[in-house]
Amino acid sequence: MNVQERYDAFLALTKELHALELVDGLLSWDQQTKMPPRGAALRADQMAVLSGIHHVTLTKGAMPDHLKALQDDDTSSLGDDAAVNLREVRRQFDRASRVPTDLVKEIARVQALSMEAWTEAKEASDFNRFAPFLEKTLGLKLQVADAIGYTGSRYNALHDEFEPGSRAEDVAVIFADLRKKLVPLVQAIAESRRAGTQKLMDGHFPVDRQEALGRDLLTSIGFDWEAGRIDVSAHPFCSGNLHDVRLTTRYDAKDLTKSLFGLLHEGGHGLYEQGFDPDHAGTPRAQAVSLGIHESQSLTWENIVGRSRPFWEHAYPVLTRHFPDLAGEYDLDQWHRQVNLVERSMIRVEADEVTYCLHVILRFELEMDLIEGRLTVRDLPEAWNAKMVDFLDLTPKNDAEGVLQDIHWAHAIFGYFPTYALGYLYAAQFWNTARKELPHWEETFRKGDFSPLREWQREKIHLMGQTYPSHELVRRVTGESLNPQYFLDYLRDKYTEIYDL
Ligand code: ZN
Repeated sequence: MNVQERYDAFLALTKELHALELVDGLLSWDQQTKMPPRGAALRADQMAVLSGIHHVTLTKGAMPDHLKALQDDDTSSLGDDAAVNLREVRRQFDRASRVPTDLVKEIARVQALSMEAWTEAKEASDFNRFAPFLEKTLGLKLQVADAIGYTGSRYNALHDEFEPGSRAEDVAVIFADLRKKLVPLVQAIAESRRAGTQKLMDGHFPVDRQEALGRDLLTSIGFDWEAGRIDVSAHPFCSGNLHDVRLTTRYDAKDLTKSLFGLLHEGGHGLYEQGFDPDHAGTPRAQAVSLGIHESQSLTWENIVGRSRPFWEHAYPVLTRHFPDLAGEYDLDQWHRQVNLVERSMIRVEADEVTYCLHVILRFELEMDLIEGRLTVRDLPEAWNAKMVDFLDLTPKNDAEGVLQDIHWAHAIFGYFPTYALGYLYAAQFWNTARKELPHWEETFRKGDFSPLREWQREKIHLMGQTYPSHELVRRVTGESLNPQYFLDYLRDKYTEIYDL
């Protein structure tokens, strides 16, 4: 086989792997949207078979041979895209092949038990019921980190799965600074004269009309309905790629903002997935760089665009066409303030854009302490509550509201959380560049034309796929490395006006 033939064979296998991932995504989508309850056991078997095939295809048989041969040969004639695909598949291969199969299986087994224990412990609000499972999970994840290998913090081995190239040491510095600046901003908003003037929504918003509104707004931001759809699930998500992108949401009949911003968020993920270069379908060249970059795209549409005044100048008439009664309750200004309500709350998923990152930083610090052995699982509830007071001036009533609130640890996921806050930082930094390069953005938003921003994102970010790791992509698009000041400036400018600080 010459180099080109070898690469073609490698690429064919890479596309097979991606097809398996998409099938897995569809099974999971179906499980969360359509599957009858008794289908769960059968579905678990199907997904286990599929992940076994994926693991074997990646780590055994022809793939290791191709990777080895292409490492030894001179591949410069293959071009830049080939270099990206080889680099990324090799990265996946290295991670997957270093972790012993027995350890992977043991984690899957403990995770299933841990999820069950977490559900029960949360219902009973009793951390002690969950603690032994979390101890076991943490021990296994440390073994995974050691098997994969790392430099610096052990956390890096786990974090790298979700945000390749990002390092815990850098994240810790950025987060400590962010925390120092966010806490006083939240305090200033809480003490401002406008604090507490918005009310929680408690109306009657029929689901079919919420869906129609969501569809109108997603259409205006450019979601392609010929290549996507929306359905209902308990936990909203976006899955699929390019010409088949599935969004889900949930509807609260009393508060339409949950589905509205949930759909704009998932729609932002969807635009990223629909925006890759179809000529590279099935390869890393047409896939997301990292979870943080993915999140930056959803947060741009949900918050930076979707909670901006110019957006609502276009969307307020659309909103009140679907829900005429709202016009009597809120004028445009009041509505704009309503959707930018800032309030300290107990849980990340309900947090606004000012307090959100504090929830993420809290969990990151605890994860680091656990993984680096400075904190034991048994001491976790107390550490959690102390940080809640420090960061948000709130004390959880019980374990369910505090340390047990979230599913990630029960799911054996460590190293993932920082990507939620990194997404905010990337989004604000990208936006700072975009609005300079699109000087008429306010005018076009007011007219309901979001294509200039969407096309800007597509050209600079979406079409790049995994060409550059996230830190390099940020540098290329914005001219500098990740700089949290853009996020802080964005918050300060916006909320100084909204809360008249
Ligand atoms: Zn998201």
